[in-house]
Amino acid sequence: AAPRARMVVANWKMFGNLALCRESLPRLSAAVMDSVELVVCPPAPYLGEVGRLAGRSGVHYGAGEVASESVHLEAEELESRSRVHYGAQDVAEVTHGARTGEWSADMLAELGCRYAIVGHSERRDRHRECNQTVAVKAAMCIAAGVIPIVCVGETMSDRESGQTEAVLAEQLTAILQLMKKNAMFVLAYEPVWAIGTGLAATPEMAQDVHAFLRQQLATFSPVWAESVTILYGGSVKADNAASLFAMPDIDGGLVGGASLNVDDLLTIYRAA
Ligand code: PEP
Repeated sequence: AAPRARMVVANWKMFGNLALCRESLPRLSAAVMDSVELVVCPPAPYLGEVGRLAGRSGVHYGAGEVASESVHLEAEELESRSRVHYGAQDVAEVTHGARTGEWSADMLAELGCRYAIVGHSERRDRHRECNQTVAVKAAMCIAAGVIPIVCVGETMSDRESGQTEAVLAEQLTAILQLMKKNAMFVLAYEPVWAIGTGLAATPEMAQDVHAFLRQQLATFSPVWAESVTILYGGSVKADNAASLFAMPDIDGGLVGGASLNVDDLLTIYRAA
């Protein structure tokens, strides 16, 4: 089987501005390597600018086109495009409608977004998104040709009460029930207690969970499980990234706070 994609995803959350887009994208584009994907997820109002800066604003992803982006592009045009990808931090659970303040997966595809984060713990918590909602959002992305980066993770009280695996299995099962085998998706393990706290999981602790998640995926499809990229997120920093990414089932990171500093992000990226 082909080795799974390694990846670092920058989640800017609701931080940054046009100046950050313009400062960081050229530096990221210059540093990106074929061996590791780099994905920037800015606040939605900046997606157009990030797309322009990444040289990808003409790329329309869409149903069935995810794996063959290059088909419609001239070689020369492709050459001049940056290999930095970008994505949204959320997506609506319907294709269109009277949904003030929301955006659809098709709109993201039209804007050249290859990815969308769904089910981030801040959405689950602050916006009361349940497992079913997250699963529908992931399915919407897949139907539109956008790859969902699906976040799962336990709270500290789940962990302390020995519920970590049960909680994760429930979160993952909801998604797998709506997903076709072999669908392109990325899983992100983000223990809620590690997000924005400076308290990252140890590499061993994270590896145990990643192995468990991969085993859960394997009950659905063993071959597919080996091909799914599983990212770790939760206080990944320039100084702990290498030890986390060295673990066999950790294929890269989803980075919040540290992704706002271009130097730190590049250090983390190179560690993957
Ligand atoms: C995140 O936003 O997904 C995240 C992991 O944040 P931080 O890196 O700041 O903990």
